[in-house]
Amino acid sequence: MSLLSVDEARSRILSQFEPVGTETLSLAGCAGRVLAADVAAQNNLPSFDNSAMDGFAVIASDLVDAVRVSPRTLEVVADIPAGTSPTVTLVSGQAARIMTGAPMPKGADAVIPVEETDFDHRAPGTPAPKTVSVYKSLNAGDYVRAQGTDVQTGQPVLKSGHKLRPQDLGLLAMLGVAEVPVYGRPRVALLSSGDELIPVDEPLRPGKIRDSNTYTLAALIEDAGAEVLRLGIASDRRESVEGLLANAATQKVDLILSSAGVSVGAFDFIKDVVEAQGELTFWRVNMRPGKPLAFGSFKNIPFIGLPGNPVSAFVGFEVFVRPALEGLSGLEAGNRPRIRVRLAENISSDGRESYLRANVREEDGILSAHLAGHQGSGNLLSIVQANALLIIPAGVKSLAAGMEVDAWLL
Ligand code: AMP
Ligand code: MG
Repeated sequence: MSLLSVDEARSRILSQFEPVGTETLSLAGCAGRVLAADVAAQNNLPSFDNSAMDGFAVIASDLVDAVRVSPRTLEVVADIPAGTSPTVTLVSGQAARIMTGAPMPKGADAVIPVEETDFDHRAPGTPAPKTVSVYKSLNAGDYVRAQGTDVQTGQPVLKSGHKLRPQDLGLLAMLGVAEVPVYGRPRVALLSSGDELIPVDEPLRPGKIRDSNTYTLAALIEDAGAEVLRLGIASDRRESVEGLLANAATQKVDLILSSAGVSVGAFDFIKDVVEAQGELTFWRVNMRPGKPLAFGSFKNIPFIGLPGNPVSAFVGFEVFVRPALEGLSGLEAGNRPRIRVRLAENISSDGRESYLRANVREEDGILSAHLAGHQGSGNLLSIVQANALLIIPAGVKSLAAGMEVDAWLL
């Protein structure tokens, strides 16, 4: 069996995933969900000219010569709190007291902040003065937030495939989008496999280890915006694997994800069970850690089998499963941003595309990468201590301290 490149393996996987469908949700439930339609503004933002300051709406040309020693005094003809709609029209010599966010009255073209007048009172309930003396000249438009300066009616603001962040929800609210079309959340059935595995709450017995992958992978699945169905641990017996997979198939999942049992192992029934009702191909991918990988389908549900070593499972998730979940989620897949970091130490690789666990921190203004712990694929502490994965391209066997490499921040 020849080695597949990481890119080739990933694109074979990605070609099998499409968005799982759409639904319409009320805005409050949309954080982290992926938009399923482009959004254009239904109204201007701001939707009316309004004051940027607490002050007085004025006509700028009235104040051409105003200075502190020779202020210009205006008649205050209206009081405009936020939330009201003024009916007054200012003429030369007049002003209206106005609060931040309140609509500009007709006739006015600028706002003079209270600090630039003889009426610097902002305590709630203070009535407007009869007159106000202004200490400063200003230009038309000063301290006015004009209609449409932020967003104009009809302007495209968010694109389908965008993952909604808190600020996006705020914009949608401002634009009156109460019901939002989003892609459905993918559902992933997760199982661990191996006779050596025991649940977290059981005491260790000779030869046994606790199942860590279930916890790490479930959290990664949720982090990627998908729901997880925990199937538990399959023992190395055919009936056990059959039972768990049959359960997954009845639960309307979009992906079955397993860990372990993809390397050449004598007690591997996953392959037999999956193949009996689907297909499974075992790949050797030109990467480290995580060379063995299985991909196929069980009862028409895509199946990905990650290696069992905890670090291999973690890296395999980031390299193959996260992009697949992005594809299922309606996100543009596999475009995770990479940053450039500088190696703080010499590193060596075996020429496979390597994902090294590293701690990246700023040193003298430069992002500097230090390897985190022992790099063996079973050493969980290395990913616990890491905040980044360094990506060493295939074909590279050594890199000297000071050289730059790509990294994913974790
Ligand atoms: P395998 O892929 O089955 O050859 O397993 C590789 C290594 O990963 C073995 O040392 C297993 O004990 C370990 N392993 C497999 N599954 C898990 C799991 N769910 N949690 C922690 N370690 C595991
Ligand atoms: Mg095993």
